[in-house]
Parts: sequence; C-alpha cells; structure tokens
Amino acid sequence: MLDPALIADLRAARRIVVFTGAGMSAESGIPTFRERLTGLWAQVDPMEIATPWAFRADPQRVWDWHVHLAEAVRAARPNAGHEAIAALEQAGLDVTVITQNVDALHHRAGSRAVVELHGNLLRLKSFVDEEAAFAAASPTICRACDGYAVWESCDPYADRSDLAAIELRAGAVPRCPGCGALLRPDVVWFGEPLAVEAIEAAWNAVDRCDVLFAVGASLEVEPAASLPWRALARGARVIEVNPSPTELVGQCHAGIRGGAAEVLPELFGIIWPSR
Ligand SMILES: [Zn+2]
Repeated sequence: MLDPALIADLRAARRIVVFTGAGMSAESGIPTFRERLTGLWAQVDPMEIATPWAFRADPQRVWDWHVHLAEAVRAARPNAGHEAIAALEQAGLDVTVITQNVDALHHRAGSRAVVELHGNLLRLKSFVDEEAAFAAASPTICRACDGYAVWESCDPYADRSDLAAIELRAGAVPRCPGCGALLRPDVVWFGEPLAVEAIEAAWNAVDRCDVLFAVGASLEVEPAASLPWRALARGARVIEVNPSPTELVGQCHAGIRGGAAEVLPELFGIIWPSR
C-alpha cells in the first residue's frame, strides 16, 4: 500500500492531523449538507434553505428542514473509519481531527480532539438579530446563549444548561430560555463565515503536524480546502484517502483510492502495527 521509507516517516510522526470531509459521513449513510434531502424535501435546494436569509424569512420551514437532516444523523452510526481514528488517539498518539462534517460522528466514535469547521447540527444557538439588539435602549449579552439581547426581555435565572437541554426536534422553533431569541442549529450556513476560533484551531493543528491524512474531502470549499496544501508547504507528510481522488493526489506523498471505513483500519494497522 505504501513505500517502506514513507511508512517509517509516518511511524516517527509526533503530531497527526486527520482532515475529514463529506465522504466520511456518506459512508455512514448521512446526506452531505450540499445534497438534496429525500421525500418532502427533495425539491428544496440546500443552498437556498440553509441560509440566514431563509431563516429570517421563514424560520419554521428552515427548522423543519434541519429536523429532517437531524433524524438521518441520529439514525447513523460511526463507521470503521471513525473508529480507527478514535483508536489512534486512545492509543496515546497526538491526533487532531479537523472535520467539515456537522454530524459529530467523530465524537460518538470516541475522538476528543475534534475541530468542527462547520459546526454541529445537534447543538443549538440563538439566531442573533444584531440590528434589533443594538437599536434597543439597553442591549446586553444573554447569559444562556451569549447573543446580544434586550435587557428588559432577559430571564436572569436562565443559563447555558437550559439552552443545552433544548434539542433539534419536530415542532415549533424553540426560543432561547434567556433572551427569547429564536434558536437555530449551530452550523455554518451558506453565506456565513466560519467561526474564527475553529479556523484558527485548524491552522494551528496543521502548522504543528508532521503528517496529515485527508480523508473523503472534496477540497472544493475554502478555506478548509487549503489545509492539506498548507501542511504540504510546511513540510508535513500528506496522504489522501478518497474514492474519488482530488488534484491533491498528484502532489502529496501517497494517494489511496477507497473509502475511509475500508482503508483506514488497514492503513493505520500497517503504520502502527503495535497500536
Ligand atoms: Zn439568549
């Protein structure tokens, strides 16, 4: 599968990054965020409904679409690829997962160091109408959601745990227990920037790593698509695992054609046989 000299380099690596994209979730049966859902939602273009403008115009419709996606996420299970990555971390290696996926399957498989570039579908945050809050006479920061809120409408006894207890489920769009703002999934919608903390954490992990595995990532969405190239430029060993190789495969140290569930357990077993 790999050149023996490269295997020796990989085995000597101190810091490992595994960068995962939609292909990883697709192997667990989860539709990608860019893909149309089935059934009632088949006619709906995700790039039109997963946006702040769509939510402002019709919060209930956007909520219902995400509920449908959340049902697929809850029904899914981590695959052998997720499990192989988590096992490396549990064996004591320094592994950071950077993922474009919003399904938290890496967490469910047992990975702890996970940077979620596009957020987490099953976590909620408030939909912040900054204009309204700043136009108010007494704006404040909500203790439950950290959003800008109107002081008079806040419940001083509400806190983060009250917000964390609310789930993405069928029904009316819930509101923040602290400030009454509508709640939305904590994902990066089309037209929204990535969270600064997430992209900084990703860059830091990539800049420190000795090896980066790019797994099931199409490398079409910036700035995430730049991460493997950045690792290469900084001298890290870069391996692509993908059923449909990207242009990275011509530049990186090895490209393995295949899915994560099939390739990663075997690949990691070759590199780290004692783990
Ligand atoms: Zn709030």
